[in-house]
Amino acid sequence: MSQEKLQEHYHKIIEIIGEDPKREGLQKTPERVAKAMQFLTSGYEKNIEDLVGDAIFDSSANDIVLIKNIEFYSLCEHHLLPFHGVAHIAYIPDGKIIGLSKIARIVDMYTRRLQVQEHLTNQVADAIYQILKPRWVGVGFEAKHFCMMMRGVEKESSKTFSCTFRGEKDECSNRDFINLIK
Ligand SMILES: [Zn+2]
Repeated sequence: MSQEKLQEHYHKIIEIIGEDPKREGLQKTPERVAKAMQFLTSGYEKNIEDLVGDAIFDSSANDIVLIKNIEFYSLCEHHLLPFHGVAHIAYIPDGKIIGLSKIARIVDMYTRRLQVQEHLTNQVADAIYQILKPRWVGVGFEAKHFCMMMRGVEKESSKTFSCTFRGEKDECSNRDFINLIK
């Protein structure tokens, strides 16, 4: 992704909406927006294997591990408006555990792309399941979508919750997960 190309396009967008890109406050806006957009979509340049590296460790732990309230910011792929909130991720190890900060980095990798919350939830669950091969994984995302708040139905306080599981069919773990993140 070339920053210059992005800048050119944002320059044009500013013109098309009837503003003057040469006006003082807007002169550097295309450059700033291009940089911001590159950061907000930097997850495309990452892959799960490199990201996790050697942060997977042998362990005999076999109880549920839950990381709650991992803040995230993403862009909805339908409107390019932000949605943000928290992710909750839990797993039951099967011989291996993962460095906790890596869980947050996996969330960043997938949220810094153009997303819909439903796919995001599944992608994070698949990634953790694939890299760690645990007995069970639960992933939940709670988010506020600016495309619902600022435009369209303008519902400012609605929240979207999405949740998925991988691994052993385990009604008990699924229920524990829902209770723990409440
Ligand atoms: Zn949207």
